[in-house]
Amino acid sequence: MSSTRHTRVLIIGSGPAGYTAGVYASRAMLEPLLVQGIQPGGQLTITTEVENWPGETEIQGPDLMQNMEAHARAVGTEIVSDIITSVDLSKRPFVAQSDGGTTYTADALILATGAQARWLGLPTEEKFKGFGVSACATCDGFFYRGKEVVVIGGGNTAVEEALFLTKFATKVTLIHRRDELRAEKILQNRLFKNPKIEVLWDHTVEEVLGNDAPLSVTGVKAKHVKSGEETVVPCDGFFVAIGHAPASELVKDQLETHMGGYVVTAPDSTATSTPGVFAAGDLTDHKYRQAVTSAGMGCMAALEAEHFLAEQE
Ligand code: FAD
Ligand code: NAP
Repeated sequence: MSSTRHTRVLIIGSGPAGYTAGVYASRAMLEPLLVQGIQPGGQLTITTEVENWPGETEIQGPDLMQNMEAHARAVGTEIVSDIITSVDLSKRPFVAQSDGGTTYTADALILATGAQARWLGLPTEEKFKGFGVSACATCDGFFYRGKEVVVIGGGNTAVEEALFLTKFATKVTLIHRRDELRAEKILQNRLFKNPKIEVLWDHTVEEVLGNDAPLSVTGVKAKHVKSGEETVVPCDGFFVAIGHAPASELVKDQLETHMGGYVVTAPDSTATSTPGVFAAGDLTDHKYRQAVTSAGMGCMAALEAEHFLAEQE
C-alpha cells in the first residue's frame, strides 16, 4: 500500500556512515528516519574480524553493526527496512520513492549508500555466479570444506578472503595482476606465512571453467600479463575480490560525481553539489574506504544537515 512520510532528515543507508549520521542527527533532535536498504548494516556484515575499530581490539563485523544499529535506535533514529528506488533532488522537500511503496519527503538528505563489489565482467563469471563464483568468502566459504579455491585481487579484501578461506579449503590460490600486493603489510605477512596459500603473481583471469549439469566450477584460466602464457588453475570455487564501486546509481544524474561514480563533496565537508544533500562514507571516498572514516563522515553529514536546517528556519 502506498503512503507518504515526511521527515526533517532522511538518511539512506545503514553502514557505519548512515548509523553514525543517525546518532548525531537524533542527538540534535532532528528525529531522523533511516532507510536500511538491501544490506542492513552494510559491508561489514559480510566480514568476520574487524581489528581496526577504535576501542575494540577485535570485533566481528556483524556484531559491530548490530551495536551501531542499537545505538542509533536508542537515541531516537527511526530505522526502516526498505529500499530507495529513486530520488528527486530538483526541489525541496526532496522526494525519495521506495520499493515498499512509500514516498519519503525530506528537508535534508544524507546519502550513505556505500559501495558494492566489483566483478571482472567475464561471461563465464556471470554464468557461474552462485554456483562456484562468489564475491563473499564469509558468506560462501563454508561450502568449500576440503576443496580448492582461487581468489583474485591484491587488496585488503582479497588477502582477508584468502586467509579466511584457509579455514575450510585445502588449498587457496591468490591470483594478482601485479608482483606486489596492495594490502596492508600486517595482512601480507599473515598471507605469506600461511602454508595453504599460494600466490600466482602477474596473472589475470580470462575464463571460469566448469560443468553445465549441474552448474559447477572446475577451474579458472589465468593469463600471464607479460608473456600471455595461459595456465589452468583447478578449483571448486572462485572468489572475486577486486574492490568495490560506489553505489551512486540513485543520484549519478543529479549530483556531481567523479572517478567512476564517487559523489563529489566540498573540501572538508559532506556537502554535495545540491544544497541540503550531504554524502558520507564509501559513496564519496575513493581513498580511505574504512569503517572509521565512513563513521566520521556520517557525523559530519549530520552536523552539516543540522546547520543547513537551522539556516533555512
Ligand atoms: P556500506 O557499509 O557500504 O553500507 C551502505 C549501506 O547503504 C547499506 O546498508 C545498503 O543497504 C545501503 N543502501 C545502498 N543502496 C541503498 C538504497 N537504494 N536504498 C537504501 N539503502 C541503500 N573497513 C575497516 O575499517 N575495517 C575492516 O576490517 C574492514 N573490513 C572489510 C571487509 C570486507 C569484506 C569489505 C567488503 C569491506 C571492509 N571494510 C573494512 C570497509 C568498510 O566495510 C567500509 O569502508 C564501510 O562499510 C563503508 O561504510 P558506509 O556506511 O559508507 O557504507
Ligand atoms: P582495493 O583496495 O581497491 O583493491 C582491489 C584489488 O583488486 C587491487 O589489488 C587491484 O589490483 C585488483 N583489481 C582491480 N581490478 C582488477 C581486475 N579487473 N582484475 C584483476 N585485479 C583487479 O579493494 P578492497 O581490497 O576491496 O578494499 C576496499 C577498501 O576497503 C580499501 O580501502 C581497504 O583498505 C578497505 N578494507 C579494509 C580492510 C581492513 O582494514 N582490514 C579489509 C578490507 C577492506 P592493483 O593493486 O593492481 O590495482
